[in-house]
This record gives sequence, structure tokens and C-alpha cells, in this order.
Amino acid sequence: MALLINNLSRRVPSFMNSTVTVARFSSVATTEWKKNMTAAATQKRRTFAMTSLLHRGNDQGGGDKSSSNVFTSNKHIDPNNENTNDKKNQAFNSKFRKFVQPLSADPSNEKLKATCGCGTSAVQRNKFDPTDSALDGLLENNRQWAAAVVEEDPEFFKTIALQQKPKILWIGCSDSRVPPNQVLQLGPGEVFVHRNIANVVTHTDMSCLSVLQYSIEVLKIQHVIVCGHYNCGGVAAAYGKQQVGLIDNWLRNIKDVYRLYEDDINKEEGETQRMRRLVEHNAIHSAQNVCYSTIVQDAWKRGQKLTVHAWVHDIADGMARKLDFKASCASDLENIYKM
Ligand SMILES: [Zn+2]
Repeated sequence: MALLINNLSRRVPSFMNSTVTVARFSSVATTEWKKNMTAAATQKRRTFAMTSLLHRGNDQGGGDKSSSNVFTSNKHIDPNNENTNDKKNQAFNSKFRKFVQPLSADPSNEKLKATCGCGTSAVQRNKFDPTDSALDGLLENNRQWAAAVVEEDPEFFKTIALQQKPKILWIGCSDSRVPPNQVLQLGPGEVFVHRNIANVVTHTDMSCLSVLQYSIEVLKIQHVIVCGHYNCGGVAAAYGKQQVGLIDNWLRNIKDVYRLYEDDINKEEGETQRMRRLVEHNAIHSAQNVCYSTIVQDAWKRGQKLTVHAWVHDIADGMARKLDFKASCASDLENIYKM
């Protein structure tokens, strides 16, 4: 596993493709995208971007049809669709499961080799080699991705280089198991991203506030999704008593959330359920802090269309779900925070 620090632009997805999951998802998406491209020419470049992850041929089927650890829908988010997430999940179940390859696929599998086109299986190709100290393998992955994109749409990079028009800002955890572009099934150019340990939004985090301000005032995004996730190491550390280091100070923000909602959290049976509840409260609390910012409230005063959502993602089944918080205007907030 590697740590990738890059520009926040939504035009720079996870192009290193170091996981099997990513490789499989892409090939399925490619097939479906081709259908979309015939329906809407203006969507062509955007849809195609997801070939970022492609390894052609896996859509020939034959994989383990019971596997669920793959994200496959390529439908673009309709910013006005309240039920987009549910529909995406339904679409996945009904259309794409048959294409899924098993996570435990044998790298020597002849079918995978045959579909790769580069002499190695898709599984092998997308594994990160920890002995590759120069990271040449990752750059080769990147080269192949860029070449595949250009082959599909020679104008793609030239087009997105000119401007970005994402409709969504994603604020999530840095956890490698919750990649926003894959969770949302969006390609380069379609989601602006801010991530930190345990998706914390505080009133004085200049990095997060800068992302918020730029995305709302310049990019004119229409939705902010604050997405927590179960099995969050940051939340678990905050829930516990063990000292970890500098990050303990950051995690104090989550202890504050626990203190605020202690009675509700302690209604849950067992430590696991209580931590899951803390994850949910933490995501909602961060979404509320987004709303309390001068940036969001100024946008609402201007009449800008903007909705803030709190979600939670379960890495055990790959599903993102809505939590009980959504705000589209200041009247949705507690009185003390209204300006
Ligand atoms: Zn986390």
C-alpha cells in the first residue's frame, strides 16, 4: 500500500490501480459506458474517464457471481436525484454482478491472461510491489491508464485540462478502503475531494475550509457529502484510551462528539455497536459543522443551491447509506448557528 498526496482536483483520480478491486470494476464500467456514450454525446468524455481503471476483457464473465466487493455502476449522479445512491446499488445488483471476478482469482488464470493484452493477468498487474522502491511499477500503471484513456477518447485529457465542473464535494476519511470516486462511481472531473483522518470537520481547519470555500464559491458545487465509515481506525482510537501521538489531538474532536452524544451511544449493546454509533454521530457532527461555516451560510444567503448530506459507508459490504441529516437552508440548523 502506498500513500498518495496530490492535488485535490477531481480530475486526478486514483490512477495507480494497485488493487484488484479497481481493475475489475473498470472493465465492467467500460462496457456500460459505451452504451451511455451513444445516448449522450456530451457525456462521452466524462464517462470514458473511468477507463482509467480498465483492463479490458474481464466483462466476458465467468467470475464468482457471489462476490460483492466490487463497485461497478457507471451511472453519473443526477444532482437533483434524492435516491441516486439507492438506485445505483439496485443497478449494480441487477445488471453487473454477473461480470464480477472473484477477489481470490488465481493470477495464473488463463482467461485473465487472455484478456489482459500485456502478458500478465489483471490481478498481477494491479498489485503494488513493495520491493519497487523507485515506484516504477506505479508509473507504469499510470502510463497504461493514460494510454487507454487516449485510445478511447483522444480529446479527453485536453478537455478536462481546460476546466472542471464537479457538482459534488466529498469530505471523507483518509482510509484506503473508502475511495470516493469508486464508491460514487464517478470519473475524473466529477467529484471534488477533501479527506482527513476520520472525516473530521472543525471550525478552524484552514485546509478543509479552503476546500469548502473554493468548491462552493468558485466551482459552484451543489452537494456536500460528509461520509464516515464503519471500522474507522480514527474513531476507534478516539473511543479508546491508548495514546498514539500527535494525532491524539486531532482525535480529541471525536471525543467531543462522544461527550455530546454519550447517552445515545451507550444505549447500544457492546463496544462494536457503540463505535458504529459514534461513527454515525461523527459524520453527522461534521456535516453540521459544514453548515455552520460562514461559507455555506453565505451561499444560502445568496440563494445558491447547496445541500449538505451525512452518509456512512460500510466497508464490510461496500454500501454507502444516508444518515439522519440533510440541510439545504439555514432554517434546518440550530438557532445559535444561524446568521
Ligand atoms: Zn476512517
